[in-house]
Amino acid sequence: MNLDRFAYGRPDPQDVPEKKVGYCNTCQSAIMQGDEVIELDGDMYCDSVCLMRKLGARYVGAGMEG
Ligand SMILES: [Zn+2]
Repeated sequence: MNLDRFAYGRPDPQDVPEKKVGYCNTCQSAIMQGDEVIELDGDMYCDSVCLMRKLGARYVGAGMEG
């Protein structure tokens, strides 16, 4: 009887626990070591949308408002 299909856990190719290095300054999601993030004035942002939200910027359709 093969029980291998019950043996796997969450995918972790390197078998090393991820190291949490901080949180997104906007959405507070955890940032792991090696993640590509945006840094501004010592704060980290998980992506450009979070950075833009912090700055008060947003995506719009040009000429579509008003
Ligand atoms: Zn974020």
